[in-house]
Amino acid sequence: MKNIFDTTKIISKRPPARRILVAGGAGFLGSHLCERLVHEGNTVICVDNFSTGRMENLSDLLRFDTFSVIQHDIVDPLELPVDEIYNLACPASPPHYQADPIHTLKTSVIGSLHLLELARKHQARIFQASTSEVYGDPHVHPQPEAYWGNVNSFGPRSCYDEGKRSAETLFYDFHHQHGVDIRIVRIFNTYGPRMRADDGRVVSNFIVQALRGDDITVYGDGSQTRSFCYVDDLIEGFCRLMYNQPAIRTPVNLGNPGEFTVRELAQQIIRMTGSSSKIVHRPLPTDDPRQRRPDISAAKRDLDWTPGVALTEGLTSTIAYFEHQLSRADGEFVEAAQ
Ligand code: NAD
Ligand code: UDP
Repeated sequence: MKNIFDTTKIISKRPPARRILVAGGAGFLGSHLCERLVHEGNTVICVDNFSTGRMENLSDLLRFDTFSVIQHDIVDPLELPVDEIYNLACPASPPHYQADPIHTLKTSVIGSLHLLELARKHQARIFQASTSEVYGDPHVHPQPEAYWGNVNSFGPRSCYDEGKRSAETLFYDFHHQHGVDIRIVRIFNTYGPRMRADDGRVVSNFIVQALRGDDITVYGDGSQTRSFCYVDDLIEGFCRLMYNQPAIRTPVNLGNPGEFTVRELAQQIIRMTGSSSKIVHRPLPTDDPRQRRPDISAAKRDLDWTPGVALTEGLTSTIAYFEHQLSRADGEFVEAAQ
């Protein structure tokens, strides 16, 4: 993908090479972040329990001696002297975070606590991957950072939503009580290569279904909306926030404000893949937000950040990725059967 950013306008100041821990670095977003940080000349340590992450996401990085991987669950304490910490550890797709909801909540609360204690001990800057789910099923549209949200504390999505909200609170408290240097992004639906085929989120589900010629499963009537950000745009936003001067220690929305209904997304993917798949309807999951679109005025103003990859462009490379993944998987299946 072409570089869409005008580097003369980048206002972030990159520090010299650093020793950086990326928790959740083997996942979809984490692996892209590790790649970026290693290529910038940093020493990167990926800490991951491999619940949804995969070693194959890191295969290109393993040849760098500045990159290492530790299999560890952040619900257990850890000790590593580092300059920076990025916390991306947490399953992100509803089926995965609901599979073991207690562990999901522990990951966001106890895991964040351990990483914040590590940051405090080593005076490390620490970044939290928060989420648009802190706004729940929003009554304010689009959602600015100042909106407090409409979240159910007692339902199947609560382990994720309330876990992420509690993590933000812990970040606030470690900054105010102990002076820890924090950064927080609220990520809106992001997609791209290295999502799992069985991830369960809408973009990967629809692409895999379309490529296999299976029915496209639209939950509810498909009129609910989401805004889809391409992974490269998001990672650029992470780095701008982490190194921006002056430091921004309040949550910042990152996402693409283009808003689509789920039905429109399904139709777009069917068109782009040339699939013969049919749309079928399945029950809308409990507490599924009706609409979501980020207000990114703060990121534009303070980070000079706007997403540059349009949905069709991002879907093109994501479809190509899944085509490759599925053809490889089919090859392995044929070989195993012979
Ligand atoms: P992902 O599931 O691909 O990645 C999560 C990674 O964290 C995986 O590698 C997983 O194995 C690891 N992990 C989970 N629990 C852990 C634990 N207890 N200890 C150590 N490692 C653990 O998901 P993703 O889309 O890459 O999301 C990364 C982060 O960004 C998550 O924190 C997620 O909540 C947040 N986020 C993502 C999106 C999105 O659209 N992708 C939106 C909002 C927030
Ligand atoms: N969705 C759907 N079919 C699927 C997967 C998801 O219609 O196969 C819908 C889901 O109900 C939600 C939207 O797509 O309204 C986005 O779902 P996703 O799980 O990707 O993210 P989130 O709900 O956390 O935004």
